[in-house]
Amino acid sequence: EAEREIGFFFPPEQTLAVIKPDTQHKEVILDEIRARGFTVSRLKDTVLSREMAEEFYKEHRDEPFFGQLVDYMCRGPCTMLVLTKENAVDEWRAAMGPTDPGEARETAPESLRARFAKDILQNAVHGSSNAAHARDKIHFIFGDISSENELICDLEAEESFE
Ligand code: GDP
Repeated sequence: EAEREIGFFFPPEQTLAVIKPDTQHKEVILDEIRARGFTVSRLKDTVLSREMAEEFYKEHRDEPFFGQLVDYMCRGPCTMLVLTKENAVDEWRAAMGPTDPGEARETAPESLRARFAKDILQNAVHGSSNAAHARDKIHFIFGDISSENELICDLEAEESFE
């Protein structure tokens, strides 16, 4: 009853974030993630196989840079993260900044890509682009964590309203 009267309660959301291979200053990036109010709900370092990297980026399979992207993503350990926050998907995209670090330095100088990306390919971090992708990629990397974590249920509840 009290909660209904407050009226503006938005459940936390989850997104999949990745610190990509060969990224320098991983610890700084993790500190920054927490400083920006994200909860790190899962964390693991994984070297993706070629097959996993191809599956992870399957939406990009027709892009001319797909081969380079797959090479990059499996050439060393990725730090895989489940981040939890209100509006986590969009908040994490904003924290990363634009894909191209040149553009990031122009338009979002505080963003992680402005500060840590090498170039448009080796751009330090990944984040899911919408809630459906977030749910799929979290499942792909971490398996079924829904029984351990009620927040996944909130993602599914949100989608059922679409
Ligand atoms: P994101 O959502 O900002 O990560 O960008 P996209 O989904 O468009 O691209 C996925 C990833 O492919 C990017 O994060 C880059 O690592 C890489 N990428 C995107 N655009 C280019 C490009 O024009 N050239 C190259 N070489 N790589 C790119």
